[in-house]
Amino acid sequence: LNMSEEGDTNTAATDVANTLSIPPVVTRFPPEPNGYLHLGHAKAISFNFAVARMFHGTCNMRMDDTNPSKEDEEYVESILEDVKWIQSGLYDGDAPWDGPVRKTSSYFDVIYQCAEALIQQGDAYVDSLSAEEMREYRGTLTEPGRDSPYRTRSVQENMELFRKMKNRECKEGEHVLRAKIDMASPNINMRDPTLYRIKHESHQETGDEWCIYPMYDFSHPISDALEGITHSLCTLEFEDHRPFYDWTIEKLLPTGLIQARPRQIEFSRLNIQSTVLSKRKLIQLVEQGYVNGWDDPRMPTLSGMRRRGVPPAALRLFCERVGISKADSNIAFSALEDCVRLEMDETSRRAFCVLKPLKVTLTNWNGDELENFEVPCHPKMEEMGNRIIPFGKEVYIERSDFFDLNGPEGEANGGQVPNGYKRLLEGKTVRLRYAYVIQCDEVIRDPETKEPIELQCTYMPDTRSGHTPEGMERVKGIIHWVEGSSAVRCTVNQYDRLFLVEEPGKESGDYLKDLNPGSLEVLKDVLVEPSVATDVENHLKKMKNDPSVYPSSLAYQFERSGYFAIDKDSTGKDNIAFNRVVTLRDTWGA
Ligand code: ATP
Ligand code: MG
Ligand code: MG
Repeated sequence: LNMSEEGDTNTAATDVANTLSIPPVVTRFPPEPNGYLHLGHAKAISFNFAVARMFHGTCNMRMDDTNPSKEDEEYVESILEDVKWIQSGLYDGDAPWDGPVRKTSSYFDVIYQCAEALIQQGDAYVDSLSAEEMREYRGTLTEPGRDSPYRTRSVQENMELFRKMKNRECKEGEHVLRAKIDMASPNINMRDPTLYRIKHESHQETGDEWCIYPMYDFSHPISDALEGITHSLCTLEFEDHRPFYDWTIEKLLPTGLIQARPRQIEFSRLNIQSTVLSKRKLIQLVEQGYVNGWDDPRMPTLSGMRRRGVPPAALRLFCERVGISKADSNIAFSALEDCVRLEMDETSRRAFCVLKPLKVTLTNWNGDELENFEVPCHPKMEEMGNRIIPFGKEVYIERSDFFDLNGPEGEANGGQVPNGYKRLLEGKTVRLRYAYVIQCDEVIRDPETKEPIELQCTYMPDTRSGHTPEGMERVKGIIHWVEGSSAVRCTVNQYDRLFLVEEPGKESGDYLKDLNPGSLEVLKDVLVEPSVATDVENHLKKMKNDPSVYPSSLAYQFERSGYFAIDKDSTGKDNIAFNRVVTLRDTWGA
């Protein structure tokens, strides 16, 4: 399947399709609002959208809200925001989902009528076994189940009991409604599955109207049929549930309560290495404080990805590359990062940012004078324009771009310069990108730690903007920098893999034991070039006027470091935080 199919409404394909009277394809994305959406859901969304687009159909958005104990309005809201966000990156213009938000709970009346119809037909009965007895009667994979003693209740008795269940006359667990199929079926899902159970709980949508709630396997085919879904795409663990899905449809069509015959089609779940994609585990990470909330940028949730600055278009590319199949897969985290890099390389402007600054004083610079360099915002995209970077007597470079051969660093390395090192050394030269070649004349060290705190350097006026004067050897090392008096201070959150191993919990037996303690490094005194502050101020203004603008949609490639996006807690040029989206190259395990 080519998920990038653009589905232009004016194509010849549409014209042809229109003459064939192919019934419209309708898919649906049916999350249960019991957690935040994660990358696995992105795959399901993108597949459902792609099928709808490809066949000129639509995709319904449905909250599958049949279990009030685990569901919450907070989740409903987050899901809608996530789906809108992801759709914004998948399609411009006509999106596959543009209808209302549907809710399974809005079908509770019909679903209840379906249950009564099944009782009338002799296809359902009220069972009064305890949960434990029911398990026992169900049998095992190798052993057939046994009929419950309540299976032979009359239609009238079943009807009376079911109404009592509905009318709050029964306790939780006292009875359930079950389909009457075949307790000896080799498929355990066909051994009289439960249709309704009692829950004296209020529902976020229907309040206290109901105290019985339908099971997923029963409500799903009915909801699909009511919405005219043609293809009910779901993950492979539902393959064994398909016979019951079809049973429900076939039994209910004659009643007239449903009119359509949707089909269930399964595809494999997405698994990604070094993270977990299960709502249950993600809830645990949040509730037990291993991460800072659902939208922690280390989380594989869509809200985490969005806050981190992953562009939705990168998720689309990722889902396309992963593809759709029936084979289980465990995709490397780096496959996602590759997509992020590809996307951000094209769309992010470049800027200078010094993550761990070391001060450089140019002793031969003329006083406080600043020189402005006009440089491109993107090396290949001229339309992104230019930016101004000031240069002056005091500049900052990365601490790691200076190797202190005559200090503790050199000592620790046996008095040797690391192999292939091309950056600055005492007595040697390096080029400051776009500006001048400088030479380090003297290192000023902290008297206690002996760590370098300032480099006294001279700049070479005739090396301006990449020029190498005749007779001078070409300087190999080129590094980035920021000018001190104009630089903007900010915070940078650097993220790493959330888990240390590819399959969390597989060997340790507890995925929490495999958490990466170094998954977040906060850098407080980061310096960025001044153009960034102007961008941030404009961006915040834009967000104020248009709430659909996401904070992280302002992102940069900080040259030589990686891609970084504005964190949503940034409030202005005096309080800017960046999240590292991804490094420039894959360095994991290096
Ligand atoms: P979890 O196991 O994380 O609780 P779920 O399957 O119970 O997830 P739902 O809210 O029911 O979550 O999911 C909505 C849709 O997303 C379903 O159709 C489901 O099949 C699909 N989906 C969920 N997880 C994945 C995944 N890892 N890969 C692909 N599709 C998924
Ligand atoms: Mg589910
Ligand atoms: Mg679930």
